Amino acid sequence: MNRVLLLTTPNTYRAQAFLAAAERLGVEVAIATDMQAELAESWGQQLGLDFQRIEPALAAIVAVAAERPLNAIIAVDDSGSLLAARASAALGLAHNAPDAAEAARDKFIMRTLLARAHVPSPPFQRYSTGDDLHALAQQVEYPCVVKPLRLNGSRGVIRANNPREFVAAASRLAALLDAIDPTLGAKPFLVEHFIPGFEVALEGLLDHGALQVLALFDKPDPLDGPFFEETLYVTPSRLPEATQAAIARCAADAAAALGLREGPMHAELRINDQGPWIVELAGRSIGGLCSKTLRFGTDISLEELILRQACGMPIESTVRTSVAGGVMMIPIPGAGLLKRVEGVAESAEVPGVEEVDITARINYPIVPLPEGDSYLGFIFARAGTPVEVEAALREAHSRLRFRIQPSISLVV
Ligand code: ADP
Repeated sequence: MNRVLLLTTPNTYRAQAFLAAAERLGVEVAIATDMQAELAESWGQQLGLDFQRIEPALAAIVAVAAERPLNAIIAVDDSGSLLAARASAALGLAHNAPDAAEAARDKFIMRTLLARAHVPSPPFQRYSTGDDLHALAQQVEYPCVVKPLRLNGSRGVIRANNPREFVAAASRLAALLDAIDPTLGAKPFLVEHFIPGFEVALEGLLDHGALQVLALFDKPDPLDGPFFEETLYVTPSRLPEATQAAIARCAADAAAALGLREGPMHAELRINDQGPWIVELAGRSIGGLCSKTLRFGTDISLEELILRQACGMPIESTVRTSVAGGVMMIPIPGAGLLKRVEGVAESAEVPGVEEVDITARINYPIVPLPEGDSYLGFIFARAGTPVEVEAALREAHSRLRFRIQPSISLVV
């Protein structure tokens, strides 16, 4: 029997889908969660590891494999990708090289490698939150985007159009980084040229360096800042074939530039009259619950494809089923305590809507971007065409009402 180690986080949206796929395939799963060992034990988790402390985590994984061999190690989110690569290398399992995993985690390394390989990607400069922000504001070009090196989900990513906005954006990012890790002093951040255009997301599978595009999602809502909250993803793309081909080439070039060669990859690109630009490339599958929109061959999930590839099991088809699908990551309308969500049943009744899943918890704080790190929920739809999917998602969203008790101070 194949045995896989999943590296997960306590707040991940992704583990369930992998567990369901493993069960379908008869693959045994061991789980390591990014949390203190004692806490993991008291929560009934199999194994708690600090994914940032690579050496002890590595030793623990080698011990897990010594009990019974592992066929693959899969990080379900970004946070485990470097550990998965290092542990796979230690155990001789096929995986991305640790350097490639690191490059896909760190936006500065990523931009550096993309620029070196001449893959279109925004011009960038690395600064420190300890720098004189007013002086920097006079140097940078506008419009620009201020962003952290190692967060995800658009956290801390802020557009600035002029020096005043730059100082506000960089100060806000600095406060966020300090709240996340008060122990460190000044922290690095990036300033990039703002790339105008519309955005797409590409989901792919790498096999010995060759990219198989699994799905291309259009993002029909403009993402022009100042914050970059994801909302709609709809597939198949409505873009012309030639544009889709150029996007796939750009994503493949980017994977090669970073050295990503095996397993899932997720790329965000912006397209304008100069062609596609890489915004971001990750050595993992799509985030949130968005993979629910994808089915392949005879109703196979994305996670099943990933597990099959990782275990060397046959993959009958990577062709997406013919219906169009989409998801809305429900935008967070404001900060505060979520008291009530109304209209869920009416929303779920919209033709084409398959599910309305409110993942935020009642009476817990919800925090919008740029500080927030979780979703209110997801709406899923399937229909004959992408236009119908988009319309269904918008209609379903318009039927939801969120009762939020505004918070006095900002919760990070
Ligand atoms: P994360 O990894 O946190 O998602 P990204 O670097 O992918 O951070 O940025 C999040 C979003 O911000 C992107 O999907 C895009 O909409 C927007 N964005 C980021 N960088 C730029 C840029 N240089 N130009 C235009 N938009 C950008």
